[in-house]
Amino acid sequence: MNTTTRTRPTHAPVRAAVVGVDKLSAHFTRITFTAPGVGTPGTPIYDQRIKLIFPVPGHPLPDLTRDWYASWCALPEDTRGVMRTYSIRALDLGTEPARLTVDFVLHPDPGPAAAWAEQAAPGQEIILVAPQRGADPSGIEFAPGAATDVVLAGDETAAPAIARILEDLGPDITGVAFIEIPTPDDLLPIDAPPGMEVRWLPRAGAAHGTLLTPAVLGHLGVVLVDDEPPTAEPAADLVWETPGFSSLGEQVPQPRPNRHTYHWIAGESSMVTRLRRALVKDHGLDRSQVAFMGYWRQGVAMRG
Ligand SMILES: Cc1cc2nc3c(=O)[nH]c(=O)nc-3n(C[C@H](O)[C@H](O)[C@H](O)COP(=O)(O)OP(=O)(O)OC[C@H]3O[C@@H](n4cnc5c(N)ncnc54)[C@H](O)[C@@H]3O)c2cc1C
Repeated sequence: MNTTTRTRPTHAPVRAAVVGVDKLSAHFTRITFTAPGVGTPGTPIYDQRIKLIFPVPGHPLPDLTRDWYASWCALPEDTRGVMRTYSIRALDLGTEPARLTVDFVLHPDPGPAAAWAEQAAPGQEIILVAPQRGADPSGIEFAPGAATDVVLAGDETAAPAIARILEDLGPDITGVAFIEIPTPDDLLPIDAPPGMEVRWLPRAGAAHGTLLTPAVLGHLGVVLVDDEPPTAEPAADLVWETPGFSSLGEQVPQPRPNRHTYHWIAGESSMVTRLRRALVKDHGLDRSQVAFMGYWRQGVAMRG
C-alpha cells in the first residue's frame, strides 16, 4: 500500500500537542491532540487515515515543508522520527484549534508508536499529517455507493475506524459489524445506527483472526475451502484491495455502481488476505462490493 503517495496533495504536516490521555481499557489508550487547520465542517470522517510522526528520544521533531513527504525522506533516518498510520476516532471542529482523537492499541512487542502512546502525557508534541480544511478528501476507503446494507469487519486496529464509520452512517443503513478484540475489557461504547448490529469478539489469547474469520464467513454462508491456520507466516506485504486499487497489481476495472451489500474488512494482513481469498476467489464476491485492507503485519514493523 502506498498511502503516502496517494494522500500527499491534500494532507499537510502540523505540530500536534497532546491535550488528553485516557486509558480506556486493557489494550486501548485514547489520545486527543490539538490539530490546527485540520478537517472540513460537514464532511464525514469514516475510515480517514492519517500519518503520525513520533519523535526519536533526544531529538527534536523535524521541520517539514508543505511537500512534507520528500522533505521527511531527505532527513537522516535515525533522527527524523518514526511515521505510522492511524485512523481518526473523533474530530472536534468546534474549538480553535480543532481537536483530533486517536485510539491507540497497546500491543505486545510494542513498536515506536505503541511505546509512545504508553507514555504519552499532556504537552508532548508529535507531527500529524491529516487533511487540511477545505481540501478534497483523500485517504477514505469506505465507499458503499448506493448500498444500504453493510458488513464491517476488523480486529482491534480497525476498531477505531469501524466505530467512526458507524457513528457517521445515516439512520437507514442496516448490517453488522464484527470487531475482534484481545479481551472482553476492550469492548468500547459505539453510537451505532439502530439497524447496525455490533458483535464484539474477544479472542482471549487465541491467534488473530481465530474468531473474526469464521464469524464473517459464517454470516455470509461461505464454507472455508482451505484449513490453513490464520497467521502461519507473515504476509508478504500489506494487502490493499479496494474497488479502485490493487496492491497485488490485479487489473482494476472501472468501479461499478454497487447496490448490493458492501463489505469493509481491515486488520492483520494475513487474516485479511485469507478472508479475501475465501470471499472473492472461492465465494465470487465482486470487487466493487468489498474493500480488504491490511492495517499491520504480524512480526513486521511498519514503515509509515
Ligand atoms: C489505514 C490504517 C489505519 C490504522 N488505524 C489504527 C488505529 O486507529 N489504531 C491503532 O492502534 N492502529 C491502527 N493502525 C495499525 C498501526 O498502524 C499498526 O499497528 C502499527 O504497526 C503500530 O506501530 P508500532 O510502532 O506500535 O509497531 P511496529 O513498529 O509497526 O511493529 C512492531 C511489532 O509490533 C507488532 N504489532 C503491530 N501492531 C500490532 C497489534 N495491533 N497487535 C499485535 N502486534 C502488533 C508488529 O507485528 C511488529 O512485530 C492502522 C493502520 C492502517 C494502515
